[in-house]
Amino acid sequence: MSPKIIGLGLDALYYTALYRLIDRMIAGVGGIFCFHRVVDEDGPSGFAPTAGLAIRASFLNGVLDLARTEGWDIVTLSEVRRRLVERRFGRKFVCFTVDDIYRDTHEVVLPMFQRHGAPFTAFVTTGIPDRTLPIWWFGVEQVLNRCDDVWFGKGDRLCRLQTRTADEKTAAYALLVGSLKATGDPAGAFADFCALNDQSPESLSDELGVTWEELRAMQASGVVEFGAHTLTHPAIAALPEDEARREMGESRSILEDRLKVPVRHFAFPYGDPGSCGVRDFGIAGQLGFDTAVTTRKGVLVPGDAGALHALPRLVLNGHFQKERYAKVFMSGVLGSADGVIRWIR
Ligand SMILES: [Zn+2]
Repeated sequence: MSPKIIGLGLDALYYTALYRLIDRMIAGVGGIFCFHRVVDEDGPSGFAPTAGLAIRASFLNGVLDLARTEGWDIVTLSEVRRRLVERRFGRKFVCFTVDDIYRDTHEVVLPMFQRHGAPFTAFVTTGIPDRTLPIWWFGVEQVLNRCDDVWFGKGDRLCRLQTRTADEKTAAYALLVGSLKATGDPAGAFADFCALNDQSPESLSDELGVTWEELRAMQASGVVEFGAHTLTHPAIAALPEDEARREMGESRSILEDRLKVPVRHFAFPYGDPGSCGVRDFGIAGQLGFDTAVTTRKGVLVPGDAGALHALPRLVLNGHFQKERYAKVFMSGVLGSADGVIRWIR
């Protein structure tokens, strides 16, 4: 379904106040927002396949203002866990979580939350500050934006794609991302792709990726709680168990070692049902994480105290940047069927 149609549906729910009825039916006690990059302005229109992964600073600021006017407590994930376990549901609560961690988390998100006197949780993929993980998911878009044609493939299967127009770039993007993922090592394959096209994956990592120094400044601020988000951002469900444990456990050890803080929370990369399942929620519990979060849509309900390693989140997406949508999301409409089932359970 196109973002435009979904937006119309969200507006209909808001302006008919149907979301208020759903809110009463679902009786959610809180919600966990999730976002990725935060930018000053909208990106270029036309070819921008990763636009959903970036939200405007003014929108995020508006959602923070909304939380205050709605009387939602802004809390850490540790506090979310405490309220679920101790059944403290007197006030609605929200937790803001940011995944992967780009430079803008330090430059834009940190000062904004400091101004609001609000905490947030940062889920770090350690390969980003370690500079061992090329940021291929933004990199493909960037290379296509720079080039009017690109080479890809290997040996006698090497071919050249014309990427002059927005349509050509869009077609090439789908083809490239599909073939990078199919290799099972998209980061390595992206480095090869860059080498073929005289591009530097390192300069992109330096431009976008957070540094350990910036992470330490975030830690010193006192408003950031850190969580693990693997070493290399794989879909955990696709990994053999020992590899899944290594991605989850080692990323936590590295963060604890570099930042000198306990890391009690984990976010599953991608977080959809195809990327993390029952086995993986179990591993998160066995590794001693207090909570693990997914991107399964939904608000928190009292029954989530029994599913602390499979918590739902509400993704703030670049395609739906209206503060009123945050109110609709908090009604639980997006995961309503799912939420009702879990509440009954
Ligand atoms: Zn992620």
